[in-house]
Amino acid sequence: MSASETIHVDGVWLPAASGDTREVLDPADATIIQLVAEGGAQDADAAVAAAARAFDGGAGVWPRTPVAERAALLRRVADLLQRDREEIALIESRDTGKTLEEGRVDVDDVTNAFRYFADVVTNESGGRVVDAGSADVHSVVVHEPVGVCALITPWNYPLLQASWKIAPALAAGNTFVIKPSEVTPLSTVHLIRLLVAAGLPAGVANLVTGAGVPVGARLAEHPDVDLFSFTGGLVSGTKAGQAAVAGAKKIALELGGKNPNVVFADACATEEGFDTAVDQALNAAFIHSGQVCSAGARLIIEESVRDRFVTELARRAERIKLGRGTEDGVECGPLVSQQQLDKVEAYVASALAEGARLRCGGARPEPSEVRPATGYFYPPTVLDGCHREMTVVREETFGPILTVETFTTEDEAVALANDTEYGLAGAVFSADTARARRVAARLRHGTVWINDYHPYLPQAEWGGFGKSGIGRELGPTGLDEYRESKHIYENLRPAPVRWFAG
Ligand code: NAD
Repeated sequence: MSASETIHVDGVWLPAASGDTREVLDPADATIIQLVAEGGAQDADAAVAAAARAFDGGAGVWPRTPVAERAALLRRVADLLQRDREEIALIESRDTGKTLEEGRVDVDDVTNAFRYFADVVTNESGGRVVDAGSADVHSVVVHEPVGVCALITPWNYPLLQASWKIAPALAAGNTFVIKPSEVTPLSTVHLIRLLVAAGLPAGVANLVTGAGVPVGARLAEHPDVDLFSFTGGLVSGTKAGQAAVAGAKKIALELGGKNPNVVFADACATEEGFDTAVDQALNAAFIHSGQVCSAGARLIIEESVRDRFVTELARRAERIKLGRGTEDGVECGPLVSQQQLDKVEAYVASALAEGARLRCGGARPEPSEVRPATGYFYPPTVLDGCHREMTVVREETFGPILTVETFTTEDEAVALANDTEYGLAGAVFSADTARARRVAARLRHGTVWINDYHPYLPQAEWGGFGKSGIGRELGPTGLDEYRESKHIYENLRPAPVRWFAG
């Protein structure tokens, strides 16, 4: 396989049919890491055809492979991920800009997801017998794979988002075509190599590197794709989703978020509580330079503690070490691309024009030994005095921007936190357990943390209310997304029904 043969169809690594390539850049200095195949509609068609043959055809036995064997393969993939942990963390760090440590955490999380779905299918019974109201009837509901799945992933957590789709899709017995983000495709290429090394039959896992249009768009409309699962932004997700729905495919959309982090004064009543709440607010907003769908980008804080809290938050945010993700001691890497940097700068400018007060950040940092001048660096930025009419509060910036809004009552806190078209995730910090649980119950978001921010579990569903999407990943529901239910009704004593006199 040459470096630019990154299309995988029917077990073979290929260049793009057109011969086109794309430069994958290191966001820390804008140098080229690798050339990858720039696939097109023709490559997408070939990949779908391979996946369809592997699902339906003679040699394609994956849907009928015993569950224990499918689970064993997923466990082998998990072991291989751990074997290659450092290599993958480095690939992910160079491709996305995240720190090496974040890359390692991603590999561990993904390993757990493969093991989780292996366990779920292993421990399930083969079906659910239902009472048909007659001893002469055997009625059972079984699960079957959907068929050919098209999987589309974004650039911020390439390995993780791919795995959240691939592990349940394979566990359920599907075949698939994945199209990673054209910005960060490299860890997905490695993951497909691991699936091959683990013994997955040719044609079950196919990969087409290339742009959203034409490759993703072709997969969305392709008549032989049965399921379309997309993670990415609201605009491209709804557009692709419409094309998929027009073909009556099953769809899952994991879209953006504008996530509230609600902090009550009582959470800050002790020094320890204050320290924890500030530390967690930093983590919520600035990990991976805020390029996280669930980033706690809206700090919604009780007015009485705002000054002290925001002053300390800004002090710590200014000290975050910004640089190339592979350097020791660096805490935040660059943004992923020039486009993302331009977008973040525009959001800060619009916020200041709309009256926000800059507490820290807000301008590109000076280059340094760990921060090449050509890298897409932008510092953690805290904007105080924000309100819900501001663009920066309403829209997902997907960058290291934290806005500050205040409240004086619990009802007001809840109203602010729910005042978003999204509904992916949010948190509440309070020392009053009853209040924290009350507020959590009222938040219209798919994941709510109490006195914490960001953890997720492979056994717990992930997904959004509102415009954060349709469907769920992870957990039992994340597996069911990739299955059809089939009711088999068996008459044990066949006899005429005489509905018609005959
Ligand atoms: P994006 O929507 O630009 O791209 C996502 C993927 O869709 C890419 O692979 C892209 O090539 C493809 N694509 C673009 N247009 C398409 C089209 N018309 N048809 C089919 N495919 C198309 O998103 P991005 O900038 O890569 O990622 C950032 C977004 O992803 C943010 O909005 C973030 O919140 C979201 N995200 C959501 C979750 C979640 O779990 N809900 C997780 C990670 C990221």
